[in-house]
Amino acid sequence: MELLTIGEFARASRLTAKALRLYDELGLLRPVAVDPGNGYRRYAPAQLERARMVVWLRRLGMPLADIRNVVEMAPGDAAAAVTAYWQRVVADTAEKEQLAADLVDYLSGRDIGMSTSLAVKYAVRTDPGLLRRSNQDYAYAGRGVFAVADGFGEGGAMASRAAVEAVQQVAVGDLLNAMDDVAKRSGEAVREITDSGTTLTALILQGSQIGLVHIGDSRAYLLRNGELFQITHDDTVVQSLVDEGRLTLDEVATHPQRSLLVKALAGEHPPAVQLRDAQEGDRYLLSSDGLHSVLDIDTVREVLASEEPQPAVDRLVELVNRAGGPDNVSCVIAHLVAR
Ligand code: MG
Repeated sequence: MELLTIGEFARASRLTAKALRLYDELGLLRPVAVDPGNGYRRYAPAQLERARMVVWLRRLGMPLADIRNVVEMAPGDAAAAVTAYWQRVVADTAEKEQLAADLVDYLSGRDIGMSTSLAVKYAVRTDPGLLRRSNQDYAYAGRGVFAVADGFGEGGAMASRAAVEAVQQVAVGDLLNAMDDVAKRSGEAVREITDSGTTLTALILQGSQIGLVHIGDSRAYLLRNGELFQITHDDTVVQSLVDEGRLTLDEVATHPQRSLLVKALAGEHPPAVQLRDAQEGDRYLLSSDGLHSVLDIDTVREVLASEEPQPAVDRLVELVNRAGGPDNVSCVIAHLVAR
């Protein structure tokens, strides 16, 4: 087999000799022979395809460690790996796009001095349900901070409590800082509890803005102008399947793995953060899955729309338990009203 010098291989692959030396050092593309005397690298013509592959993957922005794996794969597996990588990029970009839009709104709102203060009426309720012996949910409402957490594992009750307590301790002054603090401190608080984790959905009200910090399958809903919106994204296996178009929403309710989480506090994933505008008349509901996987959405909307916070949380828990109360159930309701 005729080997190519690095210069010849560089010309044929349209890479520079410098890039080839770098790829060699990074283990992405090793020359088949290196002259022990002068250190000259020699490449086989069959390596051209791998070189092109490396170039394409670099252009896609794939991290080096991933490229190293992908170039070793059979074409079918490599195609699947590239597809999966690209889906992650698209999802990350969408999240960043939202953050950028939020930030623009936030800054614009501040510039035109839209900091009309809203008052909030709220209520919180947590209940073990009818089938579970302990309550691993934890919920809090007060001082412009609201949170629901659903713990799992050996120390699940400790985990959910630690996460929510970290939220309670955050100083609500600067909203962006407060959101960051909630995301960071709740993660730190839970990490110390072994073999356990928790979901967390937390809402911080500051002036005319709302900060939302979320991870897992607890949810936040917003009732505005009579319409109910789910404003958090479930970090569950089934939701990922729905996002990828591999499962329909109708199939989710009965899916055997519907409570399997892809993200929670305990893992390496940080919570997602969102900034939203707060309007007079808005009503928020935070719920653990023990509530929203049991009650249908119309019932939730009706109770949220028609009742004051305290009777509404009582009513929701009552309805869940009347339907069998299969899981711990928690809810926080907050009504934004004129001060
Ligand atoms: Mg639960």
